[in-house]
Formats: sequence, structure tokens, C-alpha cells
Amino acid sequence: MINIVLFGPPGAGKGTQALRLSERYGLVHLSTGDIFRRNIHEGTALGRSARSYMDKGELVPDTVTIAMLEAEVDAHPHAKGFIFDGFPRTEKQAEALDSFMARKDQQISLMLSLQVPEQELKKRLLQRGATSGRADDANPEVVQNRIAVYARETAPVAHYYKRQSKLVRIDGVGPLDVISQRLYDAIEQL
Ligand code: AMP
Repeated sequence: MINIVLFGPPGAGKGTQALRLSERYGLVHLSTGDIFRRNIHEGTALGRSARSYMDKGELVPDTVTIAMLEAEVDAHPHAKGFIFDGFPRTEKQAEALDSFMARKDQQISLMLSLQVPEQELKKRLLQRGATSGRADDANPEVVQNRIAVYARETAPVAHYYKRQSKLVRIDGVGPLDVISQRLYDAIEQL
């Protein structure tokens, strides 16, 4: 089984690249952001509680996010592996993921971390906001807060995987196909 954490700040291109990786390697793509948005759309209790955090660009609390992610993994018992997109976003989530995987005799194979400068992120997010229909992309203050939350709460998660020698940094600037190829190369070196 290959289990990949695709990591990076908001606007780094995780969603686009995760789709390509899931198709190429036959992995189940789990995006916590997409799952929350689906719940909001369906009007579930989970969606209602997540929404108040997402609208402000804050993280949904760990207990809620971890329980949701574990249920999604359990819903795919025959998966060849997973690509985690937007999870883990805190050290607590990373630790929970490790112990959850260990209980299944599995582990994270690799963290691929997309590197994109802050100016480029802001530009991409506001451009995406014009078409994505995502309120959290369209509002410059929320975009700024998401980037700040990333720096404060999420960036340290890379050190967690570095300590396990699983971190590979990937240049996330350039044509989409070139970035995909950088990711494929890193996976194929496993
Ligand atoms: P994304 O689609 O990955 O940009 O996520 C959109 C929003 O969903 C984030 O700004 C958070 O509010 C929430 N979210 C997504 N994944 C997580 C996570 N792993 N932990 C906490 N909140 C999350």
C-alpha cells in the first residue's frame, strides 16, 4: 500500500495534483476540505459546525476532523492506498493518523510538500475565488487568515514527517505537468 500526505499552504495546488496522483497510482483521494464542503452542501450537522470555522479561515477542531477522516478511510476497506489532501493540518492530527494507520498495520509512506511563495499563493487564491464559488477564496481577509493559520498551526507538521525521514519538498511553481512530474519522480523513488 502507498499512503501519501500531499502537503502545502492553501493555493499550493494540492487538490489538482492529488487528483492526478490518485488516477495514476489508483489511490483513494481524501480531501478533508472537500468532505466538509460536501457536508455543508448536504446540510448535515457536521457541515453546520464546520462552516463557522471555514468561513473565517480557521481550522475545524481536531476531534471533529480526525473522527471524520477515520470514518472516510474505514469506508474504503479495499483501497490500494490513500492520498491525504489537506490532512493532517496539526501535529495532533498527524499523531492521530499515525496511530490509526498503525492499528491497521499501515503507515504513511511519504509526505510531499509543495513549496509556493506567499505572493503567488495570494494571487492564485483570489483568482480562484472569482470562479470557485468558495467564499473563503474570495475574501482577502479570510485568504490572509488562512495563510497565517497555515504558518502558525500547519507548517510545523512538516517537521513531524521530517523527523521520520518521510518529507520530500517539491517546487510547486511552474506548469502543472512539470509539477506533476516532480511528484511522480519522488513517488517512484520509494
Ligand atoms: P481546503 O479545501 O483544504 O482549503 O480546506 C478548506 C477549509 O476546511 C480550511 O480552511 C479549514 O477550515 C477546513 N479544513 C480542511 N481540512 C482541515 C483539517 N485537516 N483540519 C482542520 N480544518 C480543516
